[in-house]
Amino acid sequence: MENLIEKAKQNHSLTKVELVEILTDDTINDQLFKAADEVRAKYVGDEVHLRALIEFSNICKRNCFYCGLRSENKNVERYRLSPEQIVETAGMAAQRGYKTVVLQGGEDSYFSAEKLAEIIKQIKQFDTAITLSTGEMTFEEYKILKSAGADRFLLRIETTDEKLYKKLHPAASFENRKRCLYDLKKLGFETGTGCLVGLPEQTVESLADDILFFKELNADMIGIGPFIPHKDTPLGNASAGSFTLALKVMALTRLLLPYINIPATTAMETLVKNGRNIALQSGANVVMPNVTAMEFRKKYEIYPDKISVDYSEMEKSLTQIGRIIGQDRGDSKNRREKC
Ligand code: SAH
Ligand code: SF4
Repeated sequence: MENLIEKAKQNHSLTKVELVEILTDDTINDQLFKAADEVRAKYVGDEVHLRALIEFSNICKRNCFYCGLRSENKNVERYRLSPEQIVETAGMAAQRGYKTVVLQGGEDSYFSAEKLAEIIKQIKQFDTAITLSTGEMTFEEYKILKSAGADRFLLRIETTDEKLYKKLHPAASFENRKRCLYDLKKLGFETGTGCLVGLPEQTVESLADDILFFKELNADMIGIGPFIPHKDTPLGNASAGSFTLALKVMALTRLLLPYINIPATTAMETLVKNGRNIALQSGANVVMPNVTAMEFRKKYEIYPDKISVDYSEMEKSLTQIGRIIGQDRGDSKNRREKC
C-alpha cells in the first residue's frame, strides 16, 4: 500500500482498484495525508489563496434532496441581494485585500445570464478574478458570462453514481450536468467541480469514480465536502458523511491532479473543529471566507451550523501552520503545466 501512495506521488496516476484499496485501508491515512501535503507544497507552494464568497440569493428552483435551499423547503426565509448590493459587497472584499470574488447562489431565474453579465462587468472595475457558482445553464448563457469577464466557474458533479444522482435530483439529468462542465471547459473557464462524501447509499467504488472523473475532465479546481444532513430535507435523518473519508478523497485528488486549486471546504470545518487547517495540511491550498452581510448569511443554510471565518482570523490561523496568504489572484497552475 505504501508503494501505491509513493507511486501516485511520482506518476499522479492510480487505477480504480488502487483508489478503492487506499480508500478502504485506514492504516495508511497519515502517510496519504503527508504525501498529499508534500505534493501540494511542491506543485502549488505554501501560499493559501483566499476567495471572498458572496451568497447572493437563496432562491432556488431545484430540489436537490440534500440541500436546505431546495425549492420544496418552505421553512426558508428567501432573499436575493440587489445587483447594487452584490457589486458593493465585491468592492468591500477587494478593498479588504481579496483577489477573487465568488458569486454563489441557488438557481434563481431572476439572475439571467444578461443580468449576471451586467454585475460581472461592474465588479471588473475592482480588478479581481470572478468565480461564478450559479448552477446549470446553456452553452449560450455560459458564453455570455465568459464574454462579460467571468474567469472561473464552480459546478460540482456531486456524485458520478448515475443511479444515486437520479435519486437525489429527481427532475434533473446527470448528462446535462456533465455537459455543463465540458461546455465550461470549452469556453475557457477555469472549471471547478467536486463531490459530496457520505451521501446515503454512496459506495467507495463510486468515490473512486468521482476522483477519476476529476482527472478525465482535467478540472482546475476541486471542492470536496462531507455531506451534512439538514432537517428540512428528505435526507434529514441520514447520518453525516465521515470527515476522514472526505479528507482521503481530497488527498487522493491532490496526488492525481498536483497543479490544481483545492479548497479546505466550509463543510469540513463545520464537521470537525480545526478541520480547515487539517485539510490545508492534507492537500488543500484555498479557503473561501464568507463576506456576505450577516443578516443574509444566516438564511443561506445549505446545511446547518455553517462556520464563517474572516480575513484577519484567517491570517492568524495560517501563520500557526506555517502558511501565508497568496498575494496574487491564485489562478490555476493546471493550465500552464502539464503532467
Ligand atoms: N446552486 C449551486 C451553488 C450552491 S450549492 C449549485 O448547486 O451548484 C453549493 C454546494 O453545496 C453544492 O454543490 C453541494 O455540493 C453543497 N451542499 C448542498 N447541500 C449540502 C449538504 N447538506 N451538506 C454538504 N454540502 C452540501
Ligand atoms: Fe439549489 Fe444548489 Fe441547493 Fe441544489 S445544491 S437545491 S441547485 S442551491
